[in-house]
Amino acid sequence: MITVENLTKTYGQYRAVDDVSFVCRPGQVTGFLGPNGAGKSTTMRIIAGLTPADSGSATIGGVRYHDIPNPGTQVGVLLDASAQHAGRTGREILAIGAQTMGLSSSRVDEMLELVALTPSESKRRLRDYSLGMRQRLGIAHALLGDPKILILDEPANGLDPAGIHWMRSLLRTYADRGGTVLLSSHLLHEVQIIADELIVIGQGRIVAEGSKDELLAGAGTLVKAVDEQRLAAVLSGAGIAATPAANGGLQADADPAAVGRVVAGTDVVLTELRPADGAGLEEMFLQLTSDTQRENTTIQGASA
Ligand code: ADP
Repeated sequence: MITVENLTKTYGQYRAVDDVSFVCRPGQVTGFLGPNGAGKSTTMRIIAGLTPADSGSATIGGVRYHDIPNPGTQVGVLLDASAQHAGRTGREILAIGAQTMGLSSSRVDEMLELVALTPSESKRRLRDYSLGMRQRLGIAHALLGDPKILILDEPANGLDPAGIHWMRSLLRTYADRGGTVLLSSHLLHEVQIIADELIVIGQGRIVAEGSKDELLAGAGTLVKAVDEQRLAAVLSGAGIAATPAANGGLQADADPAAVGRVVAGTDVVLTELRPADGAGLEEMFLQLTSDTQRENTTIQGASA
């Protein structure tokens, strides 16, 4: 379990992490979601003992990272896939990691196979790796010591769709076997697919947290029509409140059947009608990303 309590970190006048608290539990993938600059990496660096916090605490299994003996065998960390010696080959980087952790060299081959880096790729130098290959190597490095906890900062960056699919099933299997995963992303849909729990951060503060199902549930109906003004008038005439949705159309405060029934007797031509699952989260995330909205956007689900 990862426990973060009231973490705060300030750079000069800028509060990069502001009173952040959450837990990541075994058996779950916790998605740490926020636009660029929201404070995800800083939080993860503090958890991994690479950046000191101004106040608050971060523990892994109740212990601070620095106090974990042979940490690579307890916690796998991937913060920056390029932060390895660029002149070393992928195999050398894993071999050094294995040696440091006191593991047999056969573990290196196992990990290379797991992340699908071929023997010839493993002999290339890191500087010649694509970002996707670096991410695969980084994941191999994080898993080398067979840890029970993984901390991955934007692991999907640079992976192609097949690579993202591969990583998703790898992490699902890992969590299903009781592992704890904290992974960050600046892309809502990427995290939405992979995570069980979501923590949303903006401007250094947590703005939403809870189970994915809770955060995505029950937001009325998304409805689009050829003539949306006419649609709005019809809904309003039937007493159904509707507001413009983030990506076009209207978000109606009723279930899809009720909206369909009202529209069926009119001349409104619908082009889309579906439950607006996640619309609230999406809206909030767009606001965070637009960088104009700094506060006053809080959704609370069950605590993580
Ligand atoms: P994210 O990972 O969500 O993109 P970061 O944690 O990297 O966000 O950054 C949060 C904020 O803190 C950003 O505004 C960033 O510019 C700032 N920041 C991060 N690291 C440093 C640093 N070493 N010195 C000064 N500012 C920093």
